[in-house]
Amino acid sequence: MTEGEEDDGAAERKMRFLFSLRQQGMTDARVLSAMEKIDRGRFVRGIFAERAYEDMPLPISCGQTISQPSVVALMTQMLHVGPRDTVLEIGTGSGYQAAVLSCLARRVYTVERHRRLAQEAREIFNALGLSNVVAIAGDGSRGLPDQAPFDRILVTAAAEDPPGPLLSQLKFGGIMVVPVGQSDAVQSLIRVTRTQTGYDYEELRPVRFVPLIEGMAND
Ligand code: SAH
Repeated sequence: MTEGEEDDGAAERKMRFLFSLRQQGMTDARVLSAMEKIDRGRFVRGIFAERAYEDMPLPISCGQTISQPSVVALMTQMLHVGPRDTVLEIGTGSGYQAAVLSCLARRVYTVERHRRLAQEAREIFNALGLSNVVAIAGDGSRGLPDQAPFDRILVTAAAEDPPGPLLSQLKFGGIMVVPVGQSDAVQSLIRVTRTQTGYDYEELRPVRFVPLIEGMAND
């Protein structure tokens, strides 16, 4: 089957997917239209692909997970991304979250410690013609000093505290959304806003993410 010829079942699953996001309070029209445009099914492989439109995290390569769509929607909404923003994402994983961000921002850099995941994400971005998103293999706990500072930073792996290098790579007035807490416990999603004099912190909701691990992985 080629694109545009998908069966009615898939079309219906996609409709339900968007409906359930709206029901869960995702009201930001730009975020919803980005999530309508980016097909989550492209980022999930093998036996899990048919569950791509269910609201659950799913396994991807390298023992990692693609986040739950309602969490992607919430984090994207909380980040308040504008069309002129340069965004840094830490934790490319499947590339899905970065692809959603690329519909909203001027430019997106996404950093992943597994080279294989960064490479696979790059291939999907190319196939989808997303030219303003770059996947970089690197240790995201150090941020991306070459391209800093950023208007927005989204961390999709949990740190014990917001990493210092990421705080310092945020522009004044910039926003970072990051899950914080111990990896084996419930974590809190935090929104940090950089002001002229320091940082404001807001706790958004409990979440559960894989840990942010320092250094590169072997694959
Ligand atoms: N945003 C992803 C899901 C992220 S899962 C998506 O849309 O699919 C978290 C990812 O963070 C994993 O792929 C993990 O390898 C990565 N990660 C953990 N620590 C990291 C670090 N220090 N630097 C870069 N990536 C990291």
